[in-house]
Order: sequence, then structure tokens, then C-alpha cells
Amino acid sequence: MAGSTFASRSYRDNALILRTRNLGEADRIITMLTAEHGLVRGVAKGVRRTSSKFGATLEPFMVADVQLVHGRSLDIVTQAVSKGAYGAMIVADYEKYTSAHIMAEAAERLTESDPEDSRPQFRLLHGALSALARGVHAPDLVLNSYLLRALSTAGWAVTWTACVACGRPGPQPGFHAGLGGPVCPDCRPPGTRTLAPATTDLLHALQHGSWQSASEAAPEARHEASSVVTSYVQHHLERRLSSLG
Ligand SMILES: [Zn+2]
Repeated sequence: MAGSTFASRSYRDNALILRTRNLGEADRIITMLTAEHGLVRGVAKGVRRTSSKFGATLEPFMVADVQLVHGRSLDIVTQAVSKGAYGAMIVADYEKYTSAHIMAEAAERLTESDPEDSRPQFRLLHGALSALARGVHAPDLVLNSYLLRALSTAGWAVTWTACVACGRPGPQPGFHAGLGGPVCPDCRPPGTRTLAPATTDLLHALQHGSWQSASEAAPEARHEASSVVTSYVQHHLERRLSSLG
């Protein structure tokens, strides 16, 4: 654009690094979720050289204050200052790492299809990565709570205390991912799975951030809750998350 200055083409934001992909000899494409600009893909030039000014700032699950310049196809990262070294704490632990990887993929998918949604999604993911890194709660609980809340933010909140089909109140024994929640014995369509009452209680607690109650759940309920959340996420994101394999 005529008269366009460097300042008008550049912008600054807080970013959560979701994933990276090598480009050429020394560069990387950084996919990040920013607080104000939604999902951004930018090139970090020379980032793979040991002398790079970026250091480890642009590694997955780091939080950074980044400056970018609009480019023709991809934006260019010109500066990055680390604001939260969650990355190192997460990648050192396999269970934390796989959980963070699933969260990052879900966040990318959700904000790609709905950029309007990105600010609350940024806050949710920031909180979840921080909790995961610091080991505040077990990784499976952090992951499932994050996924339920991220889907709620995207408009797919589950009401765990009534039948999703007829509205009959109270916890229900069935769950149908396609209908989007619990179903009573009268409404059960084919494909409904039956959940233990403790699993429904756990899912409700995770979606609402009731950590005291969630942390007391038995291993069986945690295992079943993970499987319910996985099927619910895959139903709404319409294809498998590769990281959920
Ligand atoms: Zn019903």
C-alpha cells in the first residue's frame, strides 16, 4: 500500500505457541494463538540456528510477547520475548506433553473455524497450559476440563443435569455425542452409551472447574470420562484430532 510505514504493517500481541514446522534451512513456521489477533501463522527466520535471537521462546507451549510484520502470505516474526516458560516443564513429562499437544490442536481447530471466539479461547488455553506445566492437577483432568470448556465456549456446552432430548431433569444414565449430552432411558437413540453415575458427576465437575470434586474421582470414572470427552470432541470437530490417536 502506498505510504504504508513499517509501524502500520507491524503488530504486537501475546501469543501461545501451538506448533512449529521447519521451513527451508533455518526457518520455521510458527502457529500461535494470540490474545487479540486470533490464530496467526508467522515465519521465524533463522530460528533453528544456535545463535538465533529467539532462543527457545518460539517452542511449543511457550507464552511470548511477539511482534510481527504483515507479509504477502505469512506474517514475519520480528521479535519475541518469553512470558511463560511452560514449554520446558511440559515437554519434560510425556503425559503433560501429549495432553498439551491435544489441547493445542483443539484450540487451533476451534479458532480457525471461529476467529470471533479467539479471546476467550486464548484465556482458557493459557490457564490450562499453566496448570499443566505447574502440575496443579493431574494431566488427564486438566485436558478433559480444558476440552469441555473450550467446546462450551464454542457453543457446545453440555448440560449434565438433564436429558438433552426431552429435558427430563436429573442426572441421566445415557450419553449420546451426536445429540450433545445425556439422554434418559425413554429417549435413548441407537449409539447411546451408558455411563456410571460417578463419570457423569466427574464430567460435570470438570466442565465447571470444580477441582475438589474432580480430584476425588476414582480411576474408572476418570478413564470413562476421557473416552466420553474424546468422542464428544471428535463429533464436534468433525474429524479426528491426529493427536488423540
Ligand atoms: Zn429424555
